[in-house]
Amino acid sequence: PPTRMPVVVGNWKMNFDHLEATYFIQKLAWTLRDVHFDNRRCEIALLPSFTSLRSVQVLVEADRLPLTYGAQSVSVTTQGAFTGDISADMLARLGCTYVLVGHSERRKYHPEDDANIVDQVRAVLAAGMHPILCVGESFEERRQGIALDFAVGQVSDVTRDLSDEQTSHMLIAYEPVWAIGTGMVATPQSAQDAARAIRDHVRSTFDETVASSVRVLYGGSVTSRDVAQLIEQPDIDGFLVGGASLDVDEFTSIARLTE
Ligand code: PEP
Repeated sequence: PPTRMPVVVGNWKMNFDHLEATYFIQKLAWTLRDVHFDNRRCEIALLPSFTSLRSVQVLVEADRLPLTYGAQSVSVTTQGAFTGDISADMLARLGCTYVLVGHSERRKYHPEDDANIVDQVRAVLAAGMHPILCVGESFEERRQGIALDFAVGQVSDVTRDLSDEQTSHMLIAYEPVWAIGTGMVATPQSAQDAARAIRDHVRSTFDETVASSVRVLYGGSVTSRDVAQLIEQPDIDGFLVGGASLDVDEFTSIARLTE
């Protein structure tokens, strides 16, 4: 089967202005060089605020830094009278590789339902970028024993009308809502069970090529303590990291353990 490049994605959420982002990227670049980080073995991606993307692009391109980056959400429309929105083309022009779609905080604080999430995925794909679709059950669904069905159902709702080609460009982050920002990490086995259920679903809906190329990430209170056991799991291809992505040393440790 094709090998899936592991990826560690830092979701900065609403942290760091562009000066802080610049400082972080420079410090990260020095640290990665110091530890001889090998970006052929693990990809590092950052998701800054919209306001920092231009600064990140300039640094990454000028110094050819071994980093990719993207945005945390996107408008479903391409242009026009949508005050305050940012289009996928605008992000692509800034060199974004990824756009996070359907993060639980967006689902909670903004009216982002499945239909809107599907449209975001389509907008990201149409602009030539890769959506990172976030799915995962709440504590209530876990308690009821329907966690996997719930997460797989979310994947199904979003990918149902996509082509093989479109789906193969996606990343899927399994992020149980009860684990995000709580310090509670899924056990390696339950994260693997979910990642595997998601991949099995992709295989049965599309085909083996798509299933073996889609990268499935785990997210939810990941720190360097958890990474070694999680990355050993056959269906976990990397991490979506919130809190621990705000510290250069901790984030570097996570990437090195994923390498
Ligand atoms: C996230 O926001 O995607 C996330 C996983 O956050 P944290 O690592 O802080 O739980």
